[in-house]
Amino acid sequence: SSSTNKSADEELCLICGDRASGYHYNALSCEGCKGFFRRSVTRGAEYVCKIGGNCEMDMWMRRRCQACRLQRCREVGMKEECLLSEEQCKARDVRRKARQRSVKSVDHRET
Ligand SMILES: [Zn+2]
Ligand SMILES: [Zn+2]
Repeated sequence: SSSTNKSADEELCLICGDRASGYHYNALSCEGCKGFFRRSVTRGAEYVCKIGGNCEMDMWMRRRCQACRLQRCREVGMKEECLLSEEQCKARDVRRKARQRSVKSVDHRET
């Protein structure tokens, strides 16, 4: 699988690499992918990839292959149950951000 290097400040959509607007349905994502996932699940959409299901998602490709985009949404942790209980998922997000702030006040040095 992919590497786990964390960029310090900029938060990018885990699906397409666009600028993320926060955690949606349990995964860090942009508004576009958030809406795409919601629409896909609520409509019960079934997409088919035309070229084998291995499209690499980026901001261009996300429009070209909905099948791989939805698959990517699930891979990065988006959960259908969060559509029904988004408040719970948001509560988790708030806690996570609070922890990040408290970490910054400590002199944390990596070697
Ligand atoms: Zn995205
Ligand atoms: Zn595809």
